[in-house]
Amino acid sequence: MRPRFRVDRVALVTGSARGLGKASALALAREGATIIINDLPRNEAVAEATADEFRHGDLSAEVALANVSDEAQVDALIAGIIARHGRLDILVNNAGINRDAMLHKMTDEQWQQVIAVDLSGVFYMTRAASRIMRAAGRGRIVNISSASWMGNIGQANYAAAKAGVIGLSRTAAKELARSQVTVNAICPGFIDTQMTRGIPDAIREQQVAKIPLGRMGQPADVAAVVAFLASDEAGYVTGEVINVGGGYVL
Ligand code: NAD
Repeated sequence: MRPRFRVDRVALVTGSARGLGKASALALAREGATIIINDLPRNEAVAEATADEFRHGDLSAEVALANVSDEAQVDALIAGIIARHGRLDILVNNAGINRDAMLHKMTDEQWQQVIAVDLSGVFYMTRAASRIMRAAGRGRIVNISSASWMGNIGQANYAAAKAGVIGLSRTAAKELARSQVTVNAICPGFIDTQMTRGIPDAIREQQVAKIPLGRMGQPADVAAVVAFLASDEAGYVTGEVINVGGGYVL
């Protein structure tokens, strides 16, 4: 396949040991980027196995562990990438968690955990990367929000965080445009990953029945859009919010 990138690109994908992040990292690696696989320090073994899989496929990958909700770990992660590679061209803010509960039963902890990872994590990463990308005069940031940002029963914390990601993305897009850095958000719908595998079969079937394209999404469906937004060719697309949900919008 013809590599999509005209020159070497270094791409950091958060939470990419598995799921959508892994698929996005793979898509970018296949386009010729050097991939930094990030995940939580406790997931080191899975992250290393993912990087090995990439390297066996002759793709360039390394692991850099950090908890995106920890500002100091994020700053150290970015500094380490710059020390090793001298550049960071693409950031995909993919790491995310859910802690679903009805609002009247939601604990402070459930609220704070989701805001810390899904919103503050994106802020810490985007802020750190923007400093590098502004100075370089180029860059691509792709933020993984969710169809749930529109509001979804049992997901007040998650919807609030994912809506926040859209506001953050659109603001960053405006601020960074003068530096030729694009920032876009993707809203996946119902995608087949570990995050959705715990859902009882009956509810899965109900959800799938609402999707016009008639199936759950696959991680590769989202990864294809990540690869486009991260490409050199997508340089005139910024501040967009793209649904990847098989036609279903909440
Ligand atoms: P997943 O749980 O399979 O993978 C998430 C990965 O992120 C895991 O490897 C996990 O260890 C890592 N992670 C979690 N917290 C982290 C942290 N603090 N720092 C670094 N890494 C961390 O989930 P997924 O379905 O692949 O989800 C990826 C993204 O897509 C998330 O932001 C999620 O909210 C979003 N999303 C998923 C769906 C879906 O249907 N699966 C739909 C909409 C949006």
